[in-house]
Amino acid sequence: MSRFASTSRDAGVRRLTEGADPIRTNFQRDRDRIIHSTAFRRLQHKTQVIAAYEGDHFRSRMTHSLEVSQMARGVARALHLNHDLAEAIALAHDLGHPPYGHVGEEALHALMVDHGGFRHNAHGARIVDSLEDRHGDGFGLNLTRATRISLLKGKIPAGFPLSPDLVDSPPPPLEARVVDLCDRIAYLCHDLDDGLRAEVLELGDIQELAIWQRATTNLPATAPIASVISQLISILIMDLITTTDPSLESAVTVGEARLAIRHSDEITVLADELLRYLREQFYRSRRVLAEMEEGQSHIRSLYKQFVKNPDSLPASMQARLCQEGIERTVCDYVAGMTDRYLRQLSDG
Ligand code: MG
Repeated sequence: MSRFASTSRDAGVRRLTEGADPIRTNFQRDRDRIIHSTAFRRLQHKTQVIAAYEGDHFRSRMTHSLEVSQMARGVARALHLNHDLAEAIALAHDLGHPPYGHVGEEALHALMVDHGGFRHNAHGARIVDSLEDRHGDGFGLNLTRATRISLLKGKIPAGFPLSPDLVDSPPPPLEARVVDLCDRIAYLCHDLDDGLRAEVLELGDIQELAIWQRATTNLPATAPIASVISQLISILIMDLITTTDPSLESAVTVGEARLAIRHSDEITVLADELLRYLREQFYRSRRVLAEMEEGQSHIRSLYKQFVKNPDSLPASMQARLCQEGIERTVCDYVAGMTDRYLRQLSDG
């Protein structure tokens, strides 16, 4: 293993001390707990870009998380980092997403602005620390600190109720950076695939993209889309590994090692072009936006209904009212819903 890899023995500290497992490392145990969580199963019915119920072949947050985890495991292994930790982080990285993805997040944040706000990353930590209360002891899944810190990517709204030991926590391990880049590789490639499948994107436009041209260079003109997507993934993954490997070797400090994990300048430019294209033509397309706006208005009205009538919350959520207050309890409840469940409640 690289000297910058997280080691299960040293980074495996848990809030509630547990005895060693006879067969699994600390990070393998984290991974297993994440897979067995309710929040993980719900990812199955949470939208990535195209609503999961619109077709059987579109990515859901669960299939996205599985793709990220498979990539992160492979990249971490190639770089001699801890691949079990990378896998655990990847499987958990989207647990905190509310229904309807980023627009759902915006809606909840606006509703919660005077009560600590809402952000999916911080909410992911809240799920594994508290909402997945498997043993009734208030420690949630009792994951290792390394995994928990890794979920806190991005800005945390002022006043968001994190576990006290996560406030002002040190920077995440390098494995979290690997997951971050693999997350991007995964969605760039599969959103392109889903956008084509949904007939929101035009193949003719995509063929203009430099990265697509690169991916098709050695393929026959008749190559199916799936084959090009697979080539695209290979290009991005190999670029990440071959750019990172030598500079990670020569890095002296952890800070240098963190900066070493990156794409080449050339691929960065091509990937940015692809992301801009997806933003304009897919994420902000009329079809996707219309669906998302509908979801956003369901979230707003359900939130208000539950705040007005706390008695209509399920008993497990009512039990949290005293400690968390009405707004946070309702926010936790709505954020945990799948897109499907939210629609059912809104229609019913
Ligand atoms: Mg993701």
